[in-house]
Amino acid sequence: MSSVPSVPTLTLNNGVEIPQLGLGVFQVDPQETTASVLSALEVGYRHIDTAEMYGNEKEVGRAVRESGVPRDEVFITSKLNNGFHAHDDALTAFARTLEDLDTDYVDLFLIHWPLLPSRGDYADTWRALEEIYHSGRAKAIGVSNFNPHHLNRLFEETEVVPAVNQIEIHPYFAQDDVRAFNTEHGIATEAWAPLTQGKVLDDPVVTSVAERLERTPAQVVLRWHIQRGDIVFPKSVTPSRIEENFRIFDFELTAGDMAAITSLDRNWRTGLDPDTNNG
Ligand code: NAD
Repeated sequence: MSSVPSVPTLTLNNGVEIPQLGLGVFQVDPQETTASVLSALEVGYRHIDTAEMYGNEKEVGRAVRESGVPRDEVFITSKLNNGFHAHDDALTAFARTLEDLDTDYVDLFLIHWPLLPSRGDYADTWRALEEIYHSGRAKAIGVSNFNPHHLNRLFEETEVVPAVNQIEIHPYFAQDDVRAFNTEHGIATEAWAPLTQGKVLDDPVVTSVAERLERTPAQVVLRWHIQRGDIVFPKSVTPSRIEENFRIFDFELTAGDMAAITSLDRNWRTGLDPDTNNG
């Protein structure tokens, strides 16, 4: 493999460094997961985004072990599954995640969804994550799919400000309001479904920028996220795409390209709405 510029890191609000690009493994069959993660680590990825809900933590752990890359050089995120929001359930679920990943700690642990009050109290769940954080078994803790009103409640009732908020963001769903709120409170924004699960890749605005720059549509969209300052972990199980998605640090989009892609925003989600999802 020819040399590629290394992935920049961002510094979270507690001083922890996170690579701005990683590999996501949502909907990756456990049987394919170890090979995908090994392929990414081989290319140079040092950040993997998994979750108990994805059912492939064991296979992620196996890949990290088999890769020979030292554990402390790989940033691993996992997430608390819906249904384990009660304080003690959260602690038990976290212990299970460590066991499945076969590691003593995760770099980042998130509440996967805030859920509706009928499914539990995410502020109480957050206090369990604070305990985990203070024990050193998660180097940073954060949330996913939280809107500003959810975060405001954490600010009022709990101690630790989340290090990240992982939310759906892509050119069709730019979420600039939530991103600005995160920034205002020192919370890093992670963009899930950064490629709109593939659906933005044949948009004429994206393909015309890609043609001009002699890059692929996926590279252009990932570059748009990187230049906005967000953290991304596109999912792929195809080694050539895993490598393609990594090669985004040796070109730049112009301000005009950035504005043209941002103007595609149509408030269109691929996934669930945090204000109605109940797991
Ligand atoms: P994504 O936007 O990363 O799209 C993935 C799809 O894009 C692939 O299945 C493939 O079809 C296509 N693709 C990938 N690389 C390509 C390339 N180079 N060329 C052409 N097509 C390509 O969607 P995602 O998997 O939903 O999101 C990424 C990650 O975000 C997930 O794997 C997961 O880690 C995380 N995520 C988190 C949540 C959450 O609730 N916190 C929800 C969804 C996803």
